[in-house]
Amino acid sequence: MIKIVTIAGARPQFIKAAPVSRAIAQQEGLQEVLIHTGQHFDQNMSEVFFDQMEIPRPRHFLNIHSLSHGAMTGRMLEAAESIMISEKPDIVMVYGDTNSTLAGALAAAKMNVPVAHVEAGLRSHNMEMPEEINRILTDRISRILFCPTEAAVNNLSREGFRDYPCKIHLTGDVMYDASILFEGKARKPANVRLPLSFVLATIHREANTKNPARLASIINGINRVAEKKPVIFPIHPRTYKVINGNDLPPFSRNIKVIEPVGYLEMLYLLKNSRLVMTDSGGVQKEAYFFKKPCITLREETEWTELVDAGYNKLCGTDPDRIHAAALEFLTGTLDFKEGLYGKGNASAMIAKALSDS
Ligand code: UDP
Repeated sequence: MIKIVTIAGARPQFIKAAPVSRAIAQQEGLQEVLIHTGQHFDQNMSEVFFDQMEIPRPRHFLNIHSLSHGAMTGRMLEAAESIMISEKPDIVMVYGDTNSTLAGALAAAKMNVPVAHVEAGLRSHNMEMPEEINRILTDRISRILFCPTEAAVNNLSREGFRDYPCKIHLTGDVMYDASILFEGKARKPANVRLPLSFVLATIHREANTKNPARLASIINGINRVAEKKPVIFPIHPRTYKVINGNDLPPFSRNIKVIEPVGYLEMLYLLKNSRLVMTDSGGVQKEAYFFKKPCITLREETEWTELVDAGYNKLCGTDPDRIHAAALEFLTGTLDFKEGLYGKGNASAMIAKALSDS
């Protein structure tokens, strides 16, 4: 029996882990133990995903959150190491690019336990992003790299990974698997009256929230889009805090700010939206899964194939660019071609590769 210890702690990681945990449970010879670092801990940022997506309950909960990057990563590293000493995993599995990802990978690598990284090879080429630092370091110390796209495989090749002692697998994207698994269960958020046609917006990226001027600029951009079409805005707790603590432009009355929603409600909003505006990595892809155009509130993206195909426009935080892109998307139609993120069997491929390792 191969024992896999998975480390996750943030909302997108629960969503990515859901289909993979399911595939691991179905693959003979694999056993999984989950460590939840506690990076996200609220009911609507954590618990709801375990309930809705039937993720096995974590065996260990570290309760580490609301700290600076160094303190958070350091405390997670120490706690993960002590659990690994008792759990004795054969493989440690990490997802994406958060502090939980790097801490888990580093703890394992130092103990000579092979690390498997799901969502390997992504690059924004912006070293000011904490996520970019986490990705690069995690990839470098991983032995099994599961890439969602060919672009990700190419990034690793360019960085010389072909010569490193690691295995690179092109699997497709596990978030695509999740969207297929759960699409049929999508449900309308309770107590929210939805307009017939609306724009869906999310903002949470540190670069956009730590600088109130950038956030103000985005709000001005969204306010202008809202003159054309109502906006539904499930607000991330980090963004809520900044908006509450600073003198920022008020939201137009055409913007409905709601609490973060569960995954099934998010699928409903995505399916029924006309346009998506986001700085989230995951939501950019989900817009594509549901054939919706996407405005990315950043200057670069890891999901470059969406921009190349014309489904996604990078607009930064400039209200004029945001407004112009929204007008273009709202008045045009796009012919969405399928297949950018695999066949929906990434999780099964990952489980098989783990059992063959
Ligand atoms: N999401 C959600 N509820 C929300 C907002 C987002 O379930 O209110 C989901 C979204 O559908 C996607 C994931 O959270 O699957 C994206 O996470 P996030 O934007 O926090 O992180 P990123 O993808 O940028 O790492």
